[in-house]
Amino acid sequence: MTTQLQFTCTPEEAQDALYLEQKVRQELRLKPHQTPYFRWKKRSIDARQRQIKINVTLEVSIDTELTPRFQSYEFKSLATKAQVVHIVGAGPAGLFAALQAILFGIKPIVYERGKDVRARRRDLAKLTKEHVLNPESNYCFGEGGAGTYSDGKLYTRSKKRGDVQKVLELLVQFGAKEDILIDAHPHIGTNKLPQLIEAIREQILIAGGEIHFESKLTDIIIDNNRIQQIEINNSAKINIDNLILATGHSARDIFDLLHRKQVALKPKPFALGVRVEHTQAYIDGIQYHGRLHDEYLPPASYSLVTQVDNRGVYSFCMCPGGIIAPCATETQEVVTNGWSPSKRNNIYSNSGIVVGIEPSDFENATDPFVCLDFQKEIERRCWEAAGKTQKVPAQCLKDFVDGKISTSFPRSSYQPGIVSVNLKEIFPAFVYKRLRQAFIDFNQKMPGFLTNDAVVHAPESRTSSPVLIPRDPLTFQHIQLANLYPIAEGAGYAGGIVSAAIDGINSLEKIALEKNGAEAPKKH
Ligand SMILES: Cc1cc2nc3c(=O)[nH]c(=O)nc-3n(C[C@H](O)[C@H](O)[C@H](O)COP(=O)(O)OP(=O)(O)OC[C@H]3O[C@@H](n4cnc5c(N)ncnc54)[C@H](O)[C@@H]3O)c2cc1C
Repeated sequence: MTTQLQFTCTPEEAQDALYLEQKVRQELRLKPHQTPYFRWKKRSIDARQRQIKINVTLEVSIDTELTPRFQSYEFKSLATKAQVVHIVGAGPAGLFAALQAILFGIKPIVYERGKDVRARRRDLAKLTKEHVLNPESNYCFGEGGAGTYSDGKLYTRSKKRGDVQKVLELLVQFGAKEDILIDAHPHIGTNKLPQLIEAIREQILIAGGEIHFESKLTDIIIDNNRIQQIEINNSAKINIDNLILATGHSARDIFDLLHRKQVALKPKPFALGVRVEHTQAYIDGIQYHGRLHDEYLPPASYSLVTQVDNRGVYSFCMCPGGIIAPCATETQEVVTNGWSPSKRNNIYSNSGIVVGIEPSDFENATDPFVCLDFQKEIERRCWEAAGKTQKVPAQCLKDFVDGKISTSFPRSSYQPGIVSVNLKEIFPAFVYKRLRQAFIDFNQKMPGFLTNDAVVHAPESRTSSPVLIPRDPLTFQHIQLANLYPIAEGAGYAGGIVSAAIDGINSLEKIALEKNGAEAPKKH
């Protein structure tokens, strides 16, 4: 029998196996001949007070070894005449939908416009070093989707939407460390994600599924309120039964295609702002009360939120020990986002600071593209202001708040380079004023945050989709087209790797239920 033991200790003690064993013995009043077997169940840091604590939950078994944390999911080979589901997009949503299809005995056929993870890496290098953007292969497009070269943060607020534990267990099964099952804020890291994505691909192929790279959905043929065929790369026409559309928030050509075909779309609120970068040591100093370079503590993170003029302004996708990356998908725009390696050991720390944008901020509030057009306009303005390359406009943080152009900068991790611009002139007043006030508020919450030793990079604009593809909340079917399942971030139903993966899994469950009346399979 296993029991759970909860206590707090210092960061040093939490890494000391001998201390933990003594603590278990003492708390459970074990006799000397009894052997405790124990492992971490949950781990979180409480850095609110000067005396930093680790909240520990251990699983303990006395005299018998602990059973494995979870039983692996078994992906059986598909039958030759298995039913088929077509999936467009090999991001977390598309890949987890494909895995779930195999668990249901349905054959997934996946089309991905970008390249496989390895080939994709070369395009990222060209983008960073030579400013050459491949519109089909970049930080957003390619195997693994936008999540592949990311921080790989795996926490989600949308726990009610589905089985978070299943997503984490599958990630461990495909190579992630078990730590992601334990940590309050788990993450994987850019250096580990590609192998994991490759392992998922291998599993899909071994079971009999298909994945086609450099295969872009270019048209849909609609008849009788159903999509009858899809067109790939402007040529091959493929008959389909059901189509899962998992194309992510940056597939603007998909929004255009659907609109052209008179498929219902709606405008969706999203968030936009800047990415701010401090040094990690500086953030550690604030968050850990001056306790710098502590080998027992991970690089510190932060999560900030405030209300300005009845609108939320908040930190988004904070990357401790991270790098700011060029995340544009078209040539005449710039976009920033952040990633970090598994050890989070870069000297910088960055985070998006974004303002909620509502369709009602604009005159034509019901136009499905009203928020998308605004997002595009800001990205293009930034591209123009920084010299029409992949350099981004930047300003020191205090200068941003003071509306002053910066004359010198600390170093920035953004490799394509930065150009000094007064960002007040880029953003409309309703965005700039809220960002400005938010930085002042954040300085109250994290004294020292507002400093000219930090650099603001613009824009942070791909936070979520600015367009919604409406679907029935119960069946996930598009409100007009019964065999179209718009899912995850691109359709407006997820924000982040885990919630996208959950939506992928759930969409397959809806399809299996619709096709065969099947319930979710047990693990084996
Ligand atoms: C640099 C960066 C860092 C991030 N860090 C994190 C993080 O730490 N944690 C987190 O939770 N989230 C992070 N995100 C966000 C996360 O990556 C997304 O929320 C997630 O990937 C969304 O999954 P998805 O499957 O819905 O879409 P996507 O991952 O966007 O995948 C969509 C896929 O569809 C493909 N596609 C698009 N159009 C077509 C077409 N016409 N035909 C065929 N294929 C098409 C694309 O190439 C892409 O591969 C980050 C994003 C970026 C860019």
